[in-house]
Amino acid sequence: MNKTPAREKNDQEVLLDQLQRQVAAVFEKMPYDVPLLLFTDPPKNEVFIQTAREVIRTFRNISSKISLREYGLTHKLAKKYNVDRVPTLLFDPDRYPLRWLGVPIGEEGRTFLEMLLIMGYREPGLERETQKILERIKEPRAMQLFVSPTCPYCPQQAINAIKAVIARPELFSLEIIDIQVNPDLGDRYNAFGVPLTLANGIQIAQGAQPEELFAYSLEKMAEQTIYIPDNDAPLVETELAIVGGGPAGLTAGIYAARSGLKTVIVEKGALGGQVATTPVVENYPSFTQVGGKALVDLMVSHALQYLPIFQGEEVMEIRPGLPVELLTPRRKIQARAVLLATGAVYRHLGVPGEQRLAGRGVSYCSTCDGPLFKGKKVIMVGGGDSAVTEALHLHHLGVGVTLVHRKDTLRAQEHLVKSLQESALPVIWDTEIKEIKGTARVEEVVLYNNRTRELTSRPVDGVFIAIGYEPATALAQKIGAVLTPDGYIQHDARHRTNIPGVYSAGDVEGGFKQIVIAAGQGSEAALAIYEDLIHPYWRASNPAV
Ligand code: NAP
Repeated sequence: MNKTPAREKNDQEVLLDQLQRQVAAVFEKMPYDVPLLLFTDPPKNEVFIQTAREVIRTFRNISSKISLREYGLTHKLAKKYNVDRVPTLLFDPDRYPLRWLGVPIGEEGRTFLEMLLIMGYREPGLERETQKILERIKEPRAMQLFVSPTCPYCPQQAINAIKAVIARPELFSLEIIDIQVNPDLGDRYNAFGVPLTLANGIQIAQGAQPEELFAYSLEKMAEQTIYIPDNDAPLVETELAIVGGGPAGLTAGIYAARSGLKTVIVEKGALGGQVATTPVVENYPSFTQVGGKALVDLMVSHALQYLPIFQGEEVMEIRPGLPVELLTPRRKIQARAVLLATGAVYRHLGVPGEQRLAGRGVSYCSTCDGPLFKGKKVIMVGGGDSAVTEALHLHHLGVGVTLVHRKDTLRAQEHLVKSLQESALPVIWDTEIKEIKGTARVEEVVLYNNRTRELTSRPVDGVFIAIGYEPATALAQKIGAVLTPDGYIQHDARHRTNIPGVYSAGDVEGGFKQIVIAAGQGSEAALAIYEDLIHPYWRASNPAV
C-alpha cells in the first residue's frame, strides 16, 4: 500500500512547535504541581466550556505538572468550593482561593500562562515595596476582577491580584470574571468597563495599575493614584532612559541600543500606548491590516531583543543634571540623557456624569469594552479617525452604535468615511453631548443640536468617547520643559528640549499623530542623542560640564 508522504511543516508550525517545547521545558522545572478543576456541567455556555477545555488541555498536554479534572455542579466538590456556574475554573483550591469564571483566551491567555507559572513555583515575585504594603493589611480582602479577552490592560491588573493571593492566601481571595461569559455578573455589579477591581464589594480600581498602586489601593480600600516609596531604591546606571513604551519609545530604544547606547525603557501602563487599543491599523507599511495589539506585540518583542523594559513602573520624578536621575517606586535610574516619549492621554468631554459613570457605561476603549455592549445601544462621540474606526469596530461586534458629531462633516480619512457610509451606521450631525445620565450605569444622554438649538434625550446603554488626545506633559512641566502654545513639548529639529540632556519624541511633540511618524521621531531622536552623547552640545555653552 502506498503511504502518503508526511507533509513538511510550514515555518509557522515549526515556530509553534519550538514555542511549545520552550514552554514545556519551563513548566517541567516547576517544583509544584498545579491541579486545575473545571466545572462544566450542566452544559450551559457550551461554546465557552469547549474553548476553556481546549485551552487548558493544551497546557496539560505539554506538561505533567498541570492536571485537569472536570466536574458538574452536582458534584460534592461544587458544594465544597461553593461553585454555582459554568465554566468555573479553580486553581489548586485547597491551597489558593483563586477562581476564574470564564475562558482564559485572547489577552487573558497571557494571564493564564503567567498564573500557572506563579503557582507552579509558589513564588509571587512581588516587588519589595508591594510586599511591604500587603504585609500591612490585617483584614481579609475578597477581590473580584472583571476582565475581557480583548482588553490589553487586563492582564497587568489580573497578575497584580493573583500575586497578592499567592503571597497571602490566608487573607486574600480572587474571582476573575470574564465579563463576556458572565454578562449577568457585569449587570449585577454595573461593570461595563474592564479591568474593574472590587474588594469586599467596593470598587478599588478602574483600569490597570502599577503593582505598588494596586497594593496601596487594596490596603486603603479606595483607588489610589500615587504611591511614594521609601527612598532606598536600587540604582540602575545607563546611558539613555526612555520614558514611555509606545511606538516612539520602543523605536527609539531599538535605535539607541543598536547604536551602542546602554538604554532602558520605563512604561507605567500597557506597552504600545494608544496603538494597543486600536482595533485595526491599516496604514502601517508592510501590513494592509493588522490588529493594533498584534503590531505592538511585534514591536515589543523586537525591542526586548536589545534592551530591558520596566513595565508597570511609573517615573514619578526626574532630576535634570549630569547624570539625569529618574525615580520610580522600584529603582533610581541614572542616565546621561532622557527621552520623553510619554505620548498623549485621551481627551474628556467634561460634561456632567462623564466621570461618575466611567466604567459604568462611559468608555474610552472600544477594544476593551466593546464586547460587553453586544446587542445594546451606544453612541460614539467624535468625528476623527479614532471615532470612525471604533464606531465601525463596535458595529462589527454587533453593538447598536450611532455616531454623534458636533459638525456636519467628518474629519476622518476618506477611506474610513467611505467604510462608514457603506456600513449604513447612523450618524447624528451638528450635535454635542450636554450630559450623561444614569444612577448606577449609563441610561440616557442629553443631546444639543447646535444648529436648531434643540435639547433632546436619548436612552442609551453606553457612551464611547473618541475626541482626540491631550499631550502627557506632566513630567516635562515638572522639570521646567518649555511647552508650545498648544501644550506640546517644545523641541528643536534634533528633538532637544530646552533642558540639556532631555529630549522628546512622538505624540507629546504634537504634529500628525500617526504610528509611523511616532516611530520615525523615536528613531530620529535616538540617533541625535547618540551623536550628542559623543559630542555633547551642552559643553559648547558650559565647558565645565
Ligand atoms: P482628532 O483627529 O483630534 O479628532 C477628534 C474629533 O473629536 C474631531 O472630530 C473633533 O471635532 C471631535 N471633538 C474634539 N473635542 C470634542 C468635544 N469636546 N466634543 C465633541 N467632539 C469633540 O482625534 P482622533 O480621531 O483620536 O485622532 C488622533 C490622531 O490619531 C489623528 O492624527 C488621527 O489621524 C490618528 N489616528 C489615525 C488612525 C488611522 O489612521 N486609522 C486611527 C486613529 C487615529 P471637530 O472635527 O469639530 O474638531
